[in-house]
Amino acid sequence: MTRTSITEVKCEKCKTVYEAEVIDHVDLSEDREIIKLLKTGKANRVQCSKCKKVMYLNRSIVVNFDPESCIVLFDPKARTNAQKEALKEDYHNVITFNEILQEVGEETEFTVLSNLGKFKDLLDAYMKAHS
Ligand SMILES: [Zn+2]
Repeated sequence: MTRTSITEVKCEKCKTVYEAEVIDHVDLSEDREIIKLLKTGKANRVQCSKCKKVMYLNRSIVVNFDPESCIVLFDPKARTNAQKEALKEDYHNVITFNEILQEVGEETEFTVLSNLGKFKDLLDAYMKAHS
């Protein structure tokens, strides 16, 4: 299931602040169309309500590679190992408080990626294995 949320975006052209729907979580087994967008780093496209300027947001997305037991958090901003470790810790904290998630979490490999090239390789491999 694709989960979205509403976030505030500031237009880089006219500086208008507006609200836009962004993708937080994608399940690849249910949404193949999004793979193309993820591969180009353009999954989160927003458009300014005033001047119509289109921007692609540089924010994190959780991708479930179901049926493979692999969850990838793609965050282009998580450049350092310390940032990646912090994100992993957040993930483990979340699943520890939820019994269902805990069960899933024990069997699932959780990876934090910031490199679009590596992320693209994983998506290509997934496409090959499950097309
Ligand atoms: Zn604008």
